[in-house]
Amino acid sequence: MVSFKKVTKSYGNLVVLDSLDLDVAEGEMVTVIGPSGSGKTTVLRMLMTLETINGGVIYVDGEPLTHMERDGKLVRADSRHLRKMRSKIGMCFQHFNLFPHMTALENCMEGPVHVLGMSKKEARERSEELLAMVGMAEKRDQHPSRLSGGQQQRVAIARALAMRPKVMLFDEVTSALDPEVIGEVTNVIRQLVAEHNLTMLMVTHQMGFAKDISDRICFFYSGRIEEQGTPDELFGNPQKERTQQFLSAVK
Ligand code: ATP
Repeated sequence: MVSFKKVTKSYGNLVVLDSLDLDVAEGEMVTVIGPSGSGKTTVLRMLMTLETINGGVIYVDGEPLTHMERDGKLVRADSRHLRKMRSKIGMCFQHFNLFPHMTALENCMEGPVHVLGMSKKEARERSEELLAMVGMAEKRDQHPSRLSGGQQQRVAIARALAMRPKVMLFDEVTSALDPEVIGEVTNVIRQLVAEHNLTMLMVTHQMGFAKDISDRICFFYSGRIEEQGTPDELFGNPQKERTQQFLSAVK
């Protein structure tokens, strides 16, 4: 579903992704861990087309993300192609960025109505269903300022899902939250993994959470995958010295 093929990203002389190969299969939950500055967030930002690519190609759902095939060659994508590809990707971040002047329900309906062209009735039904799924049905008419951080993050997850993405990205979704509400957000993601066949790519510093819910863990080091495997393999029996050092430092 997602495939990085020899993707390189640099800022000036700083190489942030170094010929990265990374595949995420349909329905797979992959978590990226690694030291600060190893390029984890950059991977997600590339998928959101927030960064230009310096080399290689990223494929999403079988098509190049920022390029199009024309006469057998890859050329830079036009805005129509970019819009189509962006609609396949849903994202949730550390800072939830809900629209402050809209209620929880209006936040969820906005994209489906204005971007997907869904009728208001259908968008409302779908948004109500998703808000119920994340345990926010009763707060649907509240504005974000009246919600706790954990509640806002759950609305942000419902809002992203309302766009029916093929791939969901989670970047440190719990790191801005108070410890007592982290569980309510991780439980929603746990439920998504258990009950929905979504393809997901997550960056987190919460090793216990990553271990519980991931199909595969990729340990990043200097813009490359140093080691990857199932949670049991990577946490239970890491093969590389850098992985061992990192894991013993974060325990
Ligand atoms: P953290 O765990 O601290 O969030 P990370 O592994 O997610 O780190 P990235 O945010 O992907 O790391 O950043 C990788 C490197 O790229 C870092 O050295 C960072 O300083 C650098 N970097 C990121 N964005 C920019 C930018 N816009 N301009 C210059 N350098 C950048």
